[in-house]
Amino acid sequence: MDDDGLPPLREVIATHGLAARKSLGQNFLFDLNLTRRIARAAGKLEGYTIVEIGPGPGGLTRALLMEGATKVIAVERDERTLPALAEIQAAYPGRLEVINADALEVDWATIIKGPAKIVANLPYNVATALLVGWLTPKEWPPWFSSLTLMFQKEVAMRIAAKAGDDAYGRLSILSQWRCEATKMFDVNRSAFTPPPKITSSIVHLVPRAVCEPPCKMELLERITAAGFGQRRKMLRSSLKGVFPNPEAVLEPLGIDPTTRAEQVSVADFARLAMVLDT
Ligand code: SAM
Repeated sequence: MDDDGLPPLREVIATHGLAARKSLGQNFLFDLNLTRRIARAAGKLEGYTIVEIGPGPGGLTRALLMEGATKVIAVERDERTLPALAEIQAAYPGRLEVINADALEVDWATIIKGPAKIVANLPYNVATALLVGWLTPKEWPPWFSSLTLMFQKEVAMRIAAKAGDDAYGRLSILSQWRCEATKMFDVNRSAFTPPPKITSSIVHLVPRAVCEPPCKMELLERITAAGFGQRRKMLRSSLKGVFPNPEAVLEPLGIDPTTRAEQVSVADFARLAMVLDT
């Protein structure tokens, strides 16, 4: 038995025949000390509904409940995991809701009521799509007060990268215009069963109440797509598809037209998007 009175995760996997499926991005964490550390990275859990994507056999789910989450709503696509998750529900009556669905299809705003946070060891094949979906809702501020997510390290670096870093790109700009983004700690591949090919990292994102400068998100995405679509080109040429005369826009904003997109700050991209709106 583990501290929560439930069987060790290795045993859960064996009992329920949960051989990991690559097609579902299944790499499981068995060490409750590690999953509790991830749960704590989300800050205060009491008083919050925690949305977890892909609970699998429940290592992180159990950690979230042990660390005090008022309620966990866990969205899992693989129905083979449901009996294992039912055992956790029985151990924490009324505190765990399991939704057997594809997280990409869930209409979050309709199912989540009250303060909520998202905490997940994401399936790698849909991790970026899920993040972009959470960062581009119709309403802002969004329904969640933070995102604490495990990604492949390379994706985590892209999310938190600053202008001039190798990993800086469209995902950095969208993430940081919307949120305060911090890469927290790495998780070695050996912590997973089966081990993935690369290191993973936890990223913590806190939505900004107001995204500054206040451009339209679609226009920001249009500008960054143009800039990074031809990232080796200078802005005066890569932005030609967006502005007929890029130099006439860049110079008044104090942005050197010979700069490349990878050197332009999030704020400057947002200011360019504001010009596009006028
Ligand atoms: N949370 C568990 C852990 O940390 O050990 C499992 C994490 S594993 C990396 C990803 C989980 O997401 C798997 O259980 C997988 O079945 C589930 N999953 C994959 N695609 C999904 C989707 N589109 N919607 C919901 N769950 C999904």
